[in-house]
Amino acid sequence: MADCLFCKIVAGEIPTNKVYEDDKVLAFGDINPQAPVHILIIPKKHIKSLEDVSNEDVELLGHIQLVASKLAKENNLNDGYRLVNNCGVDGGQTVAHIHYHLLGGRTFGWPPG
Ligand code: 5GP
Ligand code: ZN
Repeated sequence: MADCLFCKIVAGEIPTNKVYEDDKVLAFGDINPQAPVHILIIPKKHIKSLEDVSNEDVELLGHIQLVASKLAKENNLNDGYRLVNNCGVDGGQTVAHIHYHLLGGRTFGWPPG
């Protein structure tokens, strides 16, 4: 997707603090961190949001969770962490390329704001 910010990051057109990459996903530091650890995990494939996934994405979505777990361990988030997907307007999604926020290093409240 030519106009997609995260597709541009995948293509290397916009620099980021990359923390993990494989053939399916990319993970990088959020530009506006909301916690001591704030990593975005995205598929390299353009999918607009969780509203737009299909059966063919099942393995990819599972893989993202395994990457999140691995990055949490690497960042010593031994007391827990939060994995967030904001979907659509009501979910607070601002970038229309599906992504998961791995947040850690502090205690989070519930319910979320
Ligand atoms: P959303 O609000 O869609 O769930 O999350 C989008 C996230 O992308 C926000 O936390 C925002 O700070 C982050 N973000 C937006 N633009 C950039 C960018 O150019 N680089 C990086 N690393 N993060 C970005
Ligand atoms: Zn995209």
